[in-house]
Amino acid sequence: MFSKVLVANRGEIALRVIRACRELGVRSVAVYSDADAAAPHVREADEAVNVGPAPSAESYLRGDRVVEAAKRVGAEAIHPGYGFLSEREWFARLVRDEGLVFIGPPPEAIAAMGSKTAARQLAIAAGVPVVPGTTSALRDAAEAERIAQEFGYPVLLKAAAGGGGKGMRVVRESRELASLLDAARREAKNAFGDDAVYVEKYIVGPRHVEIQVLGDQHGTMLSLGERECSVQRRHQKMIEEAPSVAVSPERRRQMGETAVRAARAAGYVNAGTCEFLLDQDGRFYFLEMNTRLQVEHPVTELVTGIDLVQWQLRIAAGEQLPFAQEEIGPRGWAIECRITSEDPDNGFLPSTGRIEYLHVPSGPGVRWDGGIEIGSEVGLHYDPMLAKLIVWAPDRERAVERMHRALLELTVQGVETSRDFHLRVMEDDEFRRGAIEIQWLERRLPTLVKTTPPENGVLVAAVAAALLAHRDRSGRVSPGKNDRPALGNGGTNASEDVTPADPWKQAARREAIGDRW
Ligand code: ADP
Repeated sequence: MFSKVLVANRGEIALRVIRACRELGVRSVAVYSDADAAAPHVREADEAVNVGPAPSAESYLRGDRVVEAAKRVGAEAIHPGYGFLSEREWFARLVRDEGLVFIGPPPEAIAAMGSKTAARQLAIAAGVPVVPGTTSALRDAAEAERIAQEFGYPVLLKAAAGGGGKGMRVVRESRELASLLDAARREAKNAFGDDAVYVEKYIVGPRHVEIQVLGDQHGTMLSLGERECSVQRRHQKMIEEAPSVAVSPERRRQMGETAVRAARAAGYVNAGTCEFLLDQDGRFYFLEMNTRLQVEHPVTELVTGIDLVQWQLRIAAGEQLPFAQEEIGPRGWAIECRITSEDPDNGFLPSTGRIEYLHVPSGPGVRWDGGIEIGSEVGLHYDPMLAKLIVWAPDRERAVERMHRALLELTVQGVETSRDFHLRVMEDDEFRRGAIEIQWLERRLPTLVKTTPPENGVLVAAVAAALLAHRDRSGRVSPGKNDRPALGNGGTNASEDVTPADPWKQAARREAIGDRW
């Protein structure tokens, strides 16, 4: 095992990796930007190195500085977390070329799965079913039209370099095609510096079900089962669970074998995720492989009892996986809610400020993977995810009840959060029945949020003040009712935090920065 590992990330995932290091007796080194000098991950690590100013392009994305820091402090390996440098082939290569270990897949595997079109080609060659569509970038609108006619509308335009739901457009009819292709290209160019866009058939009403794989350097590649990630807004996950109500043991075996085949075809090592769409007839289609640890990895950890981050380190250090595929099966049920600094009742507007008070849920079956503490400044430089609240229970019904209970215990004061929104989802009949698919949340949103579009900041402050006057921290949240007891975070928000200087402009800015993993 390594003696010292540098954690090239921030927030909750940096803390998660630091904890794994400590449990394995490995010294950890944090990196941080000027904005994060007082962040919890900096304090919790054994050492910390400043890698630059607040903007991530000048700090967390500076692979050269990160590698230089690792060498300076004598770390043997670098864990990239998710986002930032985690899926950059050049970074994995740089780490290796500098004689360090990248805790993740080899750069060749990142490259093989790096573009969606390359991944589709690889999957097809390996006999892995993919969503019908093209495997190379579109030349022009005429070609797009011809292909769309062939597959039939609706179709989905997708950025080959895509991620975080960017550069994606649903085209429902021919006359929209040319302008939506332009829009997808522009967005892809802005987000990834690459305007290559291809077409997939748009599958109506599927679930997003992904398979966690874990492979060592000695030829073992295992499936750790599925995660259901259908609760999405704008193609971004908000709630994840394991297992999935839609996956029988037989389908789990089929999907697991398919994921392992795709991973092997890419020469994959370490933890990775194959994403699939599972349609209403039970057919599944490979979407892409995420060549890193996922945000939602804890739900798999809780139902399999396998510590994915520790195994990432152990595999990178050359250890062999001691499990057999037959031994791995889900036990009980786990659910994760992403607690973000956004206001669901105002179009998920980003909220900034200082965490004035924080009460973290605890008790049986509750896990909090957080990156904030009282005094933390929540700004616009980084992803709005503050923490993940994860629960485990013997079955889904009890997991939902437990999540509801844990959310009621949670208080975050100082910024708006998604806490009340998650409470309403836990109370929703359709969610409780597991009747979810990827378009479910957008369709259900009107009953899950209270829409009070702000005409100006003053109005928002007034509404906030009025709601604060009626706060009731213990009550259940009534979806769709006007007498909702609490504002944002259990009614404990300071009203001035609801009115950042220009919230819409800030939202646009965050959107522009916006890596969401
Ligand atoms: P990204 O890498 O940008 O996250 P993905 O390919 O993983 O893009 O897709 C993100 C989400 O978009 C999926 O979880 C699913 O909800 C939706 N999606 C992707 N492809 C399709 C498709 N062909 N039909 C319907 N929905 C899709």
